[in-house]
Amino acid sequence: MTADLTALDASTLATKIHAREVSSVEVTQAHLDRIASVDGEYNAFLHVSGETALAAAAQVDAALAAGEAPASPLAGVPLALKDVFTTTDAPTTCGSKMLEGWVAPYDATLTTKLRAAGIPVLGKTNMDEFAMGSSTENSAYGPTRNPWDTTRIPGGSGGGSAAALASNQAPLAIGTDTGGSIRQPAAVTATVGTKPTYGTVSRYGLVACASSLDQGGPCGRTVLDTALLHEVIAGYDPRDSTSIDTPVRPVVEAARQGATGDLKGMRIGVVKELHSDSYQPGVIASFDAAVAQLKELGAEIVEVSCPSFEYALASYYLVLPSEVSSNLARFDAMRYGMRVDDGNMSADQVMAATRAAGFGKEVKRRIMIGTYALSSGYYDAYYGSALKVRTLIARDFDAAYEKVDVLISPTSPFTPWKLGEKVDDPLAMYLSDLCTLPTNLAGHCAMSVPSGLSADDGLPVGLQIMAPALADERLYRVAAAYEVARGPITR
Ligand code: GLN
Repeated sequence: MTADLTALDASTLATKIHAREVSSVEVTQAHLDRIASVDGEYNAFLHVSGETALAAAAQVDAALAAGEAPASPLAGVPLALKDVFTTTDAPTTCGSKMLEGWVAPYDATLTTKLRAAGIPVLGKTNMDEFAMGSSTENSAYGPTRNPWDTTRIPGGSGGGSAAALASNQAPLAIGTDTGGSIRQPAAVTATVGTKPTYGTVSRYGLVACASSLDQGGPCGRTVLDTALLHEVIAGYDPRDSTSIDTPVRPVVEAARQGATGDLKGMRIGVVKELHSDSYQPGVIASFDAAVAQLKELGAEIVEVSCPSFEYALASYYLVLPSEVSSNLARFDAMRYGMRVDDGNMSADQVMAATRAAGFGKEVKRRIMIGTYALSSGYYDAYYGSALKVRTLIARDFDAAYEKVDVLISPTSPFTPWKLGEKVDDPLAMYLSDLCTLPTNLAGHCAMSVPSGLSADDGLPVGLQIMAPALADERLYRVAAAYEVARGPITR
């Protein structure tokens, strides 16, 4: 019974819980048992909140027993939360030693929404430190392992959430995507993940990496589950200054419509610049097969060119570190978490010693690059130029969306690599973000849906679907139709 429950998708679990065929407590306990038995192998969770998860589940069961309507379509279905959203009942570490054991004094808006929707939070998931990385190897608490092959990376920075889904430790998860941290882990673990339009999911209580790019988003094993979670977490929040006051996009309806398998009238653009001979051949083959299937579903396929995408990586790796250098100044040993102080140190010495001991190598590298890019004399040449490229990328997108409804590309140029393979080569690591970065720089939305296993190594490949700002429903329509046509992925 227990094993069966963890293999079910979230919408099936919700139907069973709401019909009172099975209780939320049973479902939540089954997942807690699974975490206890398998997570030693994967290290997807940094903290497990068994007691509060079961208490939340019991509340859902009691309300249903009293004849109340479920608080949301996902009420009672448990979830794994990336350890970058604050929670008052569990530590929030962001994968950093700097915040070891730190418990936030308030819940993030996203956490509050999950609680109000009756979604038990199983625990907090592993991540690259402060969301910087593509492999989850930059966590101070050890890497997460890919459930498809435990010698390989689960993607990053949200590798914990993706691995939790792929190993049936949670039917739903939350990630954040600043440059691809939801989509790339989804791609390399054969799960689904969406970066919603910037400004549609509150950043209040999301520990900042790069504020102009950060966006929380839903992760699941199916397109419909991801859509259901998307509607739970999206919405205007006056506590986030960049939140957009607009109705939540109808993504669930779009997923259901897409599942009928009809894409007639949908114009899909293949981005020429994101289809390269330098990508892994198996990834390109999987992508080309997906394009053929989308065509069979009735979509019109058009090739489009976005020449500025070539500079997205360079622009991103100036914009992001610049914002990081400013945002991470708050970790000053006075206000949060760690403090190194031998009792004889000045305030400056305490700060320097704490930051030296508390931050890992990649975080330090980015703080230094960002500080340099923002320094007087270099500001225009680096940060200023990066912002100009950002505008050019947005213009390329605008021109493309005059011709097509969505754009597609592989999510990642390659399948999951071996743990350790790229840790000493940051540029090689950054290349895995090639296809995901343009969306973040433009503030648009995008999604990764599994496109099967690569013919060259049998490992997961993701199809990326991109859409303009506030057109998130298009992602789900295309992804749901494709998911049906593709069929189940089996090893
Ligand atoms: N891998 C990218 C980086 O290292 C993206 C990170 C993210 O989206 N949080 O910056």
